[in-house]
Amino acid sequence: MAGLSLAYYLSQSPLRDRSILILDRVAKTSNDRTWCFWERKHEPSRSKSRPAIWSNPFQHILFRSWDTVSFHGTTYSGPIEMGSYQYKMLRSVDFYGFIQQELAKHPTIEWKQATINRIKDTPQGGFVIADDEPYIADYVFDSTFLLKLDQPENHNLLQHFKGWVIKTEHACFDPQKPEIMDFRVEQHGDCRFLYVLPFDERTALIEFTLFNDKLLTDAEYEVELRHYIDRYVQAGSYEITETEKGIIPMSDEPVLENPSEHIVRIGTSGGYTKASTGYTFQRTQRYLQAIVQNLVKTSKPHRTSPWFARRFKLYDSIFLNVLEKHRHPADDIFTRVYTENPGRVFTFLDEETGFMEELQLFATMPFMPFLTAFFDVLRRKIAG
Ligand SMILES: Cc1cc2nc3c(=O)[nH]c(=O)nc-3n(C[C@H](O)[C@H](O)[C@H](O)COP(=O)(O)OP(=O)(O)OC[C@H]3O[C@@H](n4cnc5c(N)ncnc54)[C@H](O)[C@@H]3O)c2cc1C
Repeated sequence: MAGLSLAYYLSQSPLRDRSILILDRVAKTSNDRTWCFWERKHEPSRSKSRPAIWSNPFQHILFRSWDTVSFHGTTYSGPIEMGSYQYKMLRSVDFYGFIQQELAKHPTIEWKQATINRIKDTPQGGFVIADDEPYIADYVFDSTFLLKLDQPENHNLLQHFKGWVIKTEHACFDPQKPEIMDFRVEQHGDCRFLYVLPFDERTALIEFTLFNDKLLTDAEYEVELRHYIDRYVQAGSYEITETEKGIIPMSDEPVLENPSEHIVRIGTSGGYTKASTGYTFQRTQRYLQAIVQNLVKTSKPHRTSPWFARRFKLYDSIFLNVLEKHRHPADDIFTRVYTENPGRVFTFLDEETGFMEELQLFATMPFMPFLTAFFDVLRRKIAG
């Protein structure tokens, strides 16, 4: 996702005539995942006749977009105010196809299916060996680097899930209402919820998701999926037409995005995943757009962020600490987050709130668990 997005932004920039090589061991022709994300529309003017402006370039290949989302928590069940945000779904097969088609228009952009064996910096540039072939480049953008996820000073949770696209006998879904979190599942002291994305009245992607550090067997995910469908979806009989399974790191490991002069890590490898949510797609787009702008302006890709913006990493660590140490039931935390901070929560998760707004949001959280987590994070990070 990150590599192709970067190649796409380069192809749309004044750098489009530079020689660009994309290496991937997989051809990327199947729908190996779906991405959901939210995005705020920018109204170009007060006139209703002019369409809203979206900053992502994939608007025309979205599979679905929704103006509202639903939430089912401990004390509230119903819609969540989204303000000017929309919740969007993009199928990876459409994304891969669109980008490959765009890149094919540029003779200086080449794609090779090959396995990368080595990435190394040299005084002449970034050096790569893939299927025994050597390559050297001004910059190597690496989305293959694996996070460590085992350092004790970090919080290393996983967001893991299994989902089915089901086609049901009865019309039982409201296509206008995706359920972003439904906590009506036994929590076992964890954070466990169902995620329901309706495509039409009889088709939906239903995912059973956990935030913890222990993966389940396939059968265990499936038991919960079946249980949820039998209990809460008036499906009648149903057929499973697609399966999606995944693991997303929820880690505050301090990833080196620029480990050396000619190598830049991007995507999950670059630490672009938001540690407290697992959402990666939209942040990757924003960060890569910044990288391409830097390259165009200064010939160097490196992103910098103002020091005060780093407070969001601290917030993520504190939240992970609350989850990891089971300091407060997660279903109650999410219920407070979504129901007591309408409108604000999406801006906060996008790291675009001001400090006063953040204090207002924190005031809706249980005080002692978060305070204890704050001191534990400081202790771990300083001791580590
Ligand atoms: C099933 C699933 C669903 C997700 N849903 C969402 C979502 O809804 N919203 C969201 O924001 N995030 C989501 N994510 C998280 C994140 O957006 C994705 O994981 C995203 O694909 C990460 O992009 P990436 O470029 O870092 O990694 P990838 O897209 O995985 O790209 C890495 C590429 O490197 C290639 N590669 C790896 N090693 C080598 C090697 N040695 N040689 C050659 N090629 C190699 C792989 O084939 C792959 O194509 C999801 C993740 C998964 C797994």
